[in-house]
Amino acid sequence: MSRMLYLEDSYLRECDAVVISVKDDKYVVLDQTVFYAKGGGQPYDTGCMVRGGDVFNVVFVGKFGGEVSHEVDRVGLRVGDRVRCVLDWDRRYKLMRSHTAAHLFASMLCVGTGALVTGNQLEVDKVRFDFNLEKFDPQVLEKYVSKSNALFRTDTPVKWYELPREEALKIPGVVKMAEAFPPEIPRLRIVEIVGLDKQADGGTHVKNLKEVGQIELLKTENKGKNNRRIYFTLK
Ligand SMILES: [Zn+2]
Repeated sequence: MSRMLYLEDSYLRECDAVVISVKDDKYVVLDQTVFYAKGGGQPYDTGCMVRGGDVFNVVFVGKFGGEVSHEVDRVGLRVGDRVRCVLDWDRRYKLMRSHTAAHLFASMLCVGTGALVTGNQLEVDKVRFDFNLEKFDPQVLEKYVSKSNALFRTDTPVKWYELPREEALKIPGVVKMAEAFPPEIPRLRIVEIVGLDKQADGGTHVKNLKEVGQIELLKTENKGKNNRRIYFTLK
């Protein structure tokens, strides 16, 4: 199984790796990678693999059978090749800021209103949230955006670590998504915004709330009984 370096250090922008397998000339598995594989509401990373003078652009990264598979834009990589992986850091760093922002905002909203998040998708330019809430008032949502923004001005560390499953599931609110319960694995990765929120999560985050900046509500939609959707973006 290839080592997912981004789970340990989300600030790694590059790494050396060895090609373990190549399928259909374009789906590449490496012994280790900095490329985040699409999942958990966070988009895949882009960037490139460099072998000598050859550059292979990474156009999609997914997880198949537990392995991280990188789709490259040209043929030529072979098993045993040594490559340098380089992330499109601007895109990834924005997604890290958005992801941490999403956790904090969800926490504020869930604690404050009792709403359950039913869907959450990060995009490069915005974050989408679906949640169930009987009473829908855009002004109330603005209040939680302001509360979140106040916290994004504070020096609050964000940490990630693994816990045994049993222990992790005892943490109140550790699973905020109404349906996305963590898979049957013995250890869960926890992302903790110190003093504010703990969530089971496999995504990449910034290490301090200050790095998020500020967020802005873009749109609120009433999708029917108990079904609300909002979009926010990083300012
Ligand atoms: Zn998350």
